[in-house]
Amino acid sequence: MGETTFVLTNDDPGAQEPELFAELLDFLAEQQVPATFFVIPASGGKPLDQRPEWLTLLHRALNEGHELQHHGYIHTAFEFGVPPNFMLDIMPESKAQWQRDPVPFSAQHTQAILTDKLLKGREIFKNTLGYEPLGFRAPCVAICDNMYAALHELGFKWSSNIVINPMGWRYINRDYDAGEPWHTAVPSQPFQHPAGLVEAPVHSEYTWFLTEDDIDRHFELAKSDFDRARAAGDPFIAMSHYYAMTGKWSAGLRVYERLFAYAREVGNVRFVTLGQMLAEQEIKN
Ligand SMILES: [Zn+2]
Repeated sequence: MGETTFVLTNDDPGAQEPELFAELLDFLAEQQVPATFFVIPASGGKPLDQRPEWLTLLHRALNEGHELQHHGYIHTAFEFGVPPNFMLDIMPESKAQWQRDPVPFSAQHTQAILTDKLLKGREIFKNTLGYEPLGFRAPCVAICDNMYAALHELGFKWSSNIVINPMGWRYINRDYDAGEPWHTAVPSQPFQHPAGLVEAPVHSEYTWFLTEDDIDRHFELAKSDFDRARAAGDPFIAMSHYYAMTGKWSAGLRVYERLFAYAREVGNVRFVTLGQMLAEQEIKN
């Protein structure tokens, strides 16, 4: 079996409790696993330059070998597109609102509006962290063609939004038997998006507010995705959220502890950031 690349992505630093992010950084240092963090530039409208405790931690993350990429602007569910069905099903109120009247939502998805949001977010990155990220993930993986066009025109090199296995979100709704198969229309490895940048599909989310009783079941889901990716010679790309897997929800860290150990036990696995992996890889058209 060839080498398997294992990429842990983690969303939403820049919002919510910094101490929970610090807990994840401690865990990753102990596990010697680098992460790709998708950082919100101005969560709820308050930019990172007004969040000193976050900036300290983000600099720490960079120093410890993690990478920080761009995640929306203020981060609302429909900010860059309409969330996929499995995502809408875990936010019934937004779903109902959108179903009643989709027009105000789609009116926000012109290329000009999305470009403006990206530019404002990028400016915040530049002012606070000193660089412009080349990678992007949309809030709630809600995407549209105008988003890809805007990203490409602004010089972004890659994004990671399309989900391979929606079952992680079915598990969030405790719908363990949904039996929703892998999206076979989704390439299971990074590909050249028609808009001109690379899209790196993500397998699933496995650790959303778990308790001890959930550990076995969610570990099994993650393990089966890892095994399937490995058997196909694909990279394994996981999605997670720091605040949903730490503090009183640290059962999520136990899932990853087991998954990292399992991956190391089967052998020939390499933990890298997404940006690093894509820089090394030749993307097929
Ligand atoms: Zn997010």
